[in-house]
Amino acid sequence: MNKNPQRQATPFELQRRSLIESLRGRGIQNEDVLRAMYAVPREAFVPEALAMRAYEDSALPIEKKQTISQPYTVAIMTQTLDLSSPSRVLEIGTGSGYQAAVLAAMGHKVVSIERHAALSQRARTTLHLLGFDVVCRIGDGTIGYREGGPYDGIIVTAGAPDVPEILARQLTIGGKMVIPVGTLVQQELYRVVRTAEESWKAEPLGQAKFVPLIGRSGWDETTGRS
Ligand code: SAM
Repeated sequence: MNKNPQRQATPFELQRRSLIESLRGRGIQNEDVLRAMYAVPREAFVPEALAMRAYEDSALPIEKKQTISQPYTVAIMTQTLDLSSPSRVLEIGTGSGYQAAVLAAMGHKVVSIERHAALSQRARTTLHLLGFDVVCRIGDGTIGYREGGPYDGIIVTAGAPDVPEILARQLTIGGKMVIPVGTLVQQELYRVVRTAEESWKAEPLGQAKFVPLIGRSGWDETTGRS
């Protein structure tokens, strides 16, 4: 994984390597996912004061009371998308930009939408500085981004009250969406596959805990209702 064997691995690279091994131990087997996660410096996506915690397998706070997802969550969601490269992928909830970077590092063509302009702008700068080609858009991701679709994969990184139909309709036939669905405090992760023009199959994958998906087909920010 170290391209130049003469060079000593940096402390962050060593921590990243150990994170990758622990993800492997937890059942992440897709080598493309593991390779991409080794290629993306997570320390660049967390607030500077938290850089030393970048390789803990935990979610960490970012601006606007949001979070960068736990590495295991990023790995399992990316593995569940099970995409061959290059695919067209839509991410809802850019946050720090880390998940988008992992998808881009796998060679996918990524569009990522974030409702907070400040987060989107910061993520765009980080992604650009690191050389990841991601289209970042500011807006309500619950309505998707039809202009960039249809998508082979859609990854929703905030908890939804239901699967937004408008998003499901932006999948290709055979396309997959990974989305946490449930209440404001607890969700179940689902994989939704578009099996035909008018048919989708949803399969539960396990418990999850995400910040809420706020928007027209999500939660209402002021009332907390869907
Ligand atoms: N994927 C991110 C990363 O790698 O850092 C983590 C995302 S964080 C858990 C969820 C993000 O979804 C937050 O930044 C939040 O502002 C955003 N979000 C919530 N509702 C949204 C919506 N309707 N459209 C776009 N972004 C939304």
